[in-house]
Amino acid sequence: MINAKTNRLSEEEIKAILRAADMIIDSGGRTLLAKILKGSREKKVLQLELDMCPAYGYFKKEKLEEIMKKIDWMIDYDFLDIQYSGKLPMIIFTERGWDLESDQYTDELLNEWKEWIKQGKQDPDMSYLKDRNRSMILLLLEKVRESGDQSFIPYLELWEKVDYKKVTEEIRTTINVLTSDEPIDSSIVKERKEYIKKALKGVEPQDILLKCWECGDRFTFTLGEQQFYKMKGLSYPKRCKECRI
Ligand SMILES: [Zn+2]
Repeated sequence: MINAKTNRLSEEEIKAILRAADMIIDSGGRTLLAKILKGSREKKVLQLELDMCPAYGYFKKEKLEEIMKKIDWMIDYDFLDIQYSGKLPMIIFTERGWDLESDQYTDELLNEWKEWIKQGKQDPDMSYLKDRNRSMILLLLEKVRESGDQSFIPYLELWEKVDYKKVTEEIRTTINVLTSDEPIDSSIVKERKEYIKKALKGVEPQDILLKCWECGDRFTFTLGEQQFYKMKGLSYPKRCKECRI
C-alpha cells in the first residue's frame, strides 16, 4: 500500500472504483474489487453477477497490480477502508466514500426511471428498492422531490404499495410535494453539489502523533506504519517504541 508512486486519481476514476466497491461492500476484498474493475471473466466474478456493474471493466487496459495500487490509493485518501471479517480483510466505505457513492448511485436510479419513462414502461416491479440502505433511499426521494418531475409519480405510487411504512410515508410526502406547485429550494441542491466536490478531493494521508499511555510521550506513527496496521487489521499502538520493548 505504498502510495508514493500512484498519481492522484481523477474524479471519474474515484467514482468508478466506488461504484465497483458497492457491489462487494463488506463481502469482498481488494483483489475481488480489482477484478471487477479489470473486467475479469473469472468464475466467482460471473457467479456473483459482478459483470452487471456499470464500472465492470473500467480499467480493462491496466494490469491487475496497477488497479490494486489505485484501490490502495483510495484507502489512503479516505474513500475506502479495510475491515476484518474473521481473518478476511473486507472492503468497506468510509463516511466520505459512502456519501459519494450514495450520491452517484441515486443519480443512476433516477436516470433509470427517466429511461423507463422514455420507453413508456408502465409496471416496473418496484420491490427492487425494498430493503436498501435507508439513507440512500431517503436521498433518492429527496432528489425526486427536487426534480419537480411529475412523470415520476406513477412509479412512486407503485413503489408505495410494496415498501415498509417508514418509507411509504416518505414516498407519500414526495408525491404531495410533486403535485403541489411549491417552488423547489435550489440552495439545498447547490449545497450538496459543493459538498460532493469537496469530498472528492479526499484527505492527503500523513504521519500522525500518538500519545503513549505508559510514559506519556508523543510519538510519530508514520504513514507507512498506519498502512501496515490497517492492512493487518490491527488497532493503533498504545505505547511508544521504547515502552514496547
Ligand atoms: Zn512510552
